[in-house]
Amino acid sequence: MSTFDLIIIGAGPAGLTAAQYGARANLKVLVIEQLAPGGQALLIDVLENYPGNVGVGDAPPKTGFEFSQDLHKQAESFGAEFLTESVLSLTHEKDLFTLTLGNDEKRTAPAVILATGAQHRTLDVPGEAEFSGRGVSYCATCDGPFFRNKKIFVAGGGDAACDEAQYLSRLSSQVVLVHRRSRLRAQKALAERTLNNPNIEVRFNTRIREIRGPQAAIAGPQKVASVILERTGDDGKGTGETYEDAADAVFIFAGTIPQTSLVPDAKKDESGYIITDQRMASSVPGLFAAGDVRASPFRQVVVAAAEGAIAAHCAAEYLDSIRNSGYPAR
Ligand SMILES: Cc1cc2nc3c(=O)[nH]c(=O)nc-3n(C[C@H](O)[C@H](O)[C@H](O)COP(=O)(O)OP(=O)(O)OC[C@H]3O[C@@H](n4cnc5c(N)ncnc54)[C@H](O)[C@@H]3O)c2cc1C
Repeated sequence: MSTFDLIIIGAGPAGLTAAQYGARANLKVLVIEQLAPGGQALLIDVLENYPGNVGVGDAPPKTGFEFSQDLHKQAESFGAEFLTESVLSLTHEKDLFTLTLGNDEKRTAPAVILATGAQHRTLDVPGEAEFSGRGVSYCATCDGPFFRNKKIFVAGGGDAACDEAQYLSRLSSQVVLVHRRSRLRAQKALAERTLNNPNIEVRFNTRIREIRGPQAAIAGPQKVASVILERTGDDGKGTGETYEDAADAVFIFAGTIPQTSLVPDAKKDESGYIITDQRMASSVPGLFAAGDVRASPFRQVVVAAAEGAIAAHCAAEYLDSIRNSGYPAR
């Protein structure tokens, strides 16, 4: 069983930045990621709001994918180790965490940074699960190109919905963004750009009630053909007034769920996000949290990166403190 100074769960912007800072602080760092390094940042079309990411010369700013690759390379160059596996459980005994992985192996460390981020929320409407992958998607950069010049619905009113609608508007002039409230929740610049985009029609006070395939039975797997929309009141709740509209695809950005199942005992807020102090320390000694999984008023790449840096710095200080008080040095 390999022991590290610091194990980071999740290689999104928070985990990758923590890995860089931890490794530069001379810690033996392991990052465990179940998918690919980058996390949600891989979905970002053009990462235009990360400080300094302006592109060289006439080149546009880096995409989320390019940015993620650079973060990964940078963390590795400082000596952080990476493992592609999912962490299934985390136990804590006598200043040591033991992580059980999907392949049944174990890894241990006296300090852990939880950087598991968040996952998309579903609308939970009829047809959503049935047509997932056949017109229903949660990632415009992944699936958008399949719907070039098609009629595309986008559900949501936050940064992710507006960002992805912008991307889709370069593939089709028939993008309809539906939001159950009367104003967008996205950052002002992004919201304004969405409202002024001639390829995006924003329908406020509207929500998707159902996603349907073609009426007549056809051979082979069916695809999205229409959506049932419902008008909503100022409270965002349905009025019962519905209508059907043709649709080829539905992209859903209805918020996120923090990935905290590994740490049932850590203190969380009412929405399930991990509560930490300003050193990113959770209520469990030695367990730090950073990025979208943490209770925070703003979830962005720059915030995740900054929190990852603080978490690694404070994890190093925590390790010093427990080693001075009797923890055996490696
Ligand atoms: C479509 C979209 C567009 C966005 N646009 C912007 C933008 O323009 N600008 C901006 O600043 N932000 C944007 N964001 C938000 C930004 O991507 C997030 O705030 C940021 O990625 C959060 O980073 P994180 O490291 O905290 O978590 P995440 O990016 O969610 O990464 C968490 C990682 O942990 C891994 N993981 C989870 N559980 C486990 C486990 N048990 N074992 C192993 N690995 C695990 C996941 O696979 C994932 O890779 C956008 C988000 C989306 C979805």
